This record gives sequence, structure tokens and C-alpha cells, in this order.
Amino acid sequence: MSTRPLAIFGGTFDPIHIGHLTVAWEAAELLDAEVRLMPANVPPHRPVPLASAAERVAMLRAALAGQSRLALDARELGREGPSYTVDTLRELRGEQGARPLVLLLGADAFAGLPGWHRWRELFDYAHIGVLSRPGADAVVPDALAEEVAARHVDDVAALRSVPGGKVTELMVTPLEVSATRIRELLAAGRDPRYLLPPGLFDDPALLMPYRKSPLV
Ligand code: ATP
Repeated sequence: MSTRPLAIFGGTFDPIHIGHLTVAWEAAELLDAEVRLMPANVPPHRPVPLASAAERVAMLRAALAGQSRLALDARELGREGPSYTVDTLRELRGEQGARPLVLLLGADAFAGLPGWHRWRELFDYAHIGVLSRPGADAVVPDALAEEVAARHVDDVAALRSVPGGKVTELMVTPLEVSATRIRELLAAGRDPRYLLPPGLFDDPALLMPYRKSPLV
């Protein structure tokens, strides 16, 4: 069985942009892992994505074409309503045997982990890779700090020897790009060419969900 880890990077990807791709790519390099981008159904308290699930998948496919380090896993979109990460990881664990799984989380999302459904169980199924920016420290609540104390490892090689349960920091390159900003630019008729992956920009039909409808 391969011990090359499988890492999961979730998000709305409305649309996917170079900020997502850069951190996913660097995490894949640092972990020597296969990274899967996993688009989420959006929970009721968050704004509805402008692009439909099918449109977000089409954009992800275009963005990921031509390389094999990053892949798409659209399983959560096939379910009704939002998915709990713990359920997705349990399902992956069932499929992947003892292969190391790594849940990739931005430092801010990691700090909010105690608000997640059955968050302590996440460690039963996967490691967590915290995507950090050099010099930036999110405040980690006490309950999380206690849970993580014995799990923290500095050397990513430690993630290969067990299927899950460890936490490590992955220093990645921060890019000040957000999907919100890209949606604003497109709605204003601007062309955010270099904030988007080429596969996406080269097919203007993929970006139609973000353009203001022409006046008739
Ligand atoms: P929005 O602006 O619509 O909130 P977003 O650009 O933050 O979207 P999401 O799809 O919500 O994108 O993010 C998916 C994951 O990517 C999240 O973990 C988020 O923290 C991370 N992420 C988003 N933008 C960046 C970026 N520029 N650099 C690093 N990570 C990012």
C-alpha cells in the first residue's frame, strides 16, 4: 500500500483562483502528497455561490488540466445539503485503508476548529496540515491547544508513518487574492486575467456566472 499521503483541500471555489492553486501546489510539494480539491456544498448560513455546483466543477476541471499533482474530488457536491468534514474523512478512510490522510486548513480555519461538528474525531481519520503564512499567528483557543499539544510534529516525514492524528504546519506563499475580489472585478466588466488559472481564463464561457447580464 502506498504511504504517499492523500491531502484534502476544501472550499467553495467560486471561482477557483491562483491563491488556492498556489497553496495546494506547495502543500503537495511539502508533503509529497496527492492533493484533492474538494468543492463544498455551501451551508445555509453562508451566501449562495454565484456559480452552480456544475459550473464550479467545470472551472476546477479547466484549472487543473495539464498536471497530475492536484486532482478534483467532487463527492460532497453529490450529497444533499452541506457535508460535515468528519463524515467525508471517515468515508475516505474507508476507501484508502491505512494511507495517511491530511486535511489542509488555513491557519484561521484551524483556529476555529472547536466550532466544527465532532471536531475531535477528525484526528481519528486524518492528520491536519495547517497552511501558515510566515510571521502570521492565529490565536489558537485553549481546547484546541490542549488537543494538539501531543499531536504536533515539526517534520512532515512523521505523517507518513501513521494514517492520521498528527498536526503540522506547512509554510506556504501567501497571495492576497480572494474569490470575492475576482467576482467584484468580473461583475464590473474587468478582466482579472492573472488572478485566474489560464485554463479558466481562456474559456470565457466558464466565467459567465460572474458577468453582469447584458441589458436587453
Ligand atoms: P471567498 O472570497 O468567496 O470567501 P475564497 O477566495 O476565500 O472565497 P474559498 O473557496 O472560500 O475561497 O477558500 C477555500 C480555501 O482556500 C479556504 O481554506 C481558504 O482559506 C483558502 N484560500 C482562499 N484564498 C486564499 C489565498 N489567497 N491564499 C491561501 N489560501 C486561500
